Amino acid sequence: MKKQFAVIGLGRFGGSVCKELNLLGHEVLAIDSDEARVNDYVRFSTHAVVTNATDENALTSLGIRNFEYVIVAIGDNIQSSILCTLVLKELGVKNVWVKAQNNYHHKVLEKIGADRIVHPEHDMGVRIAHYLVSDKIIDYIELSPEYSIVEVMATAKISSQSLSELNVRAKFGCTILGIKRADDLIISPIPTEIIYEKDILIMVGGNHDIKKFEDERL
Ligand code: ADP
Repeated sequence: MKKQFAVIGLGRFGGSVCKELNLLGHEVLAIDSDEARVNDYVRFSTHAVVTNATDENALTSLGIRNFEYVIVAIGDNIQSSILCTLVLKELGVKNVWVKAQNNYHHKVLEKIGADRIVHPEHDMGVRIAHYLVSDKIIDYIELSPEYSIVEVMATAKISSQSLSELNVRAKFGCTILGIKRADDLIISPIPTEIIYEKDILIMVGGNHDIKKFEDERL
């Protein structure tokens, strides 16, 4: 189903959110105070408008409260980001997602009711560090400081074993949620499912447990 999004701030982060939503076939209103930036996004959005997003009247006349999601991606200008978020919440926008620059910014956004606060540089840094230290980890999502979901490549060492033989839950305390094999995705695989070399295992578990599995079995 198509959703309606507004992206405020078309820098590197907001710009990629806008382009990707547009590519996924959703309606996107792109907003920036800089005319040149807005012109760049005319072809990557449903509408692109030059507006100062801290101006309540301007946002109201754009019908911003009708958008299901508004993403505030105003970069270095923390004051504008905070003011814009405040206006959006006061106008009654249900889902306001905001990019935070630092922890102080995060705290203020939390207090004024931002629905989701993201730290793209921090999160990407953490993910890249995990790819760097392990050549077996293909993707990594942090669930909490202790738990994560990872994608690891099955090696020849475990090829032709069934999930029950591998028994990762009992032996390592992790769970295999799915297996990617070429273009197929096997969700909630059954215990008799056989693993082959180069399968991608999607696992959830404690970071230490996943690491142990990786070191001992892959
Ligand atoms: P990034 O770090 O993601 O590249 P930038 O700081 O380069 O972010 O981009 C932020 C964007 O937000 C800029 O294009 C800037 O013009 C826009 N912006 C800043 N303040 C406002 C505002 N009050 N209203 C609308 N857009 C704004």
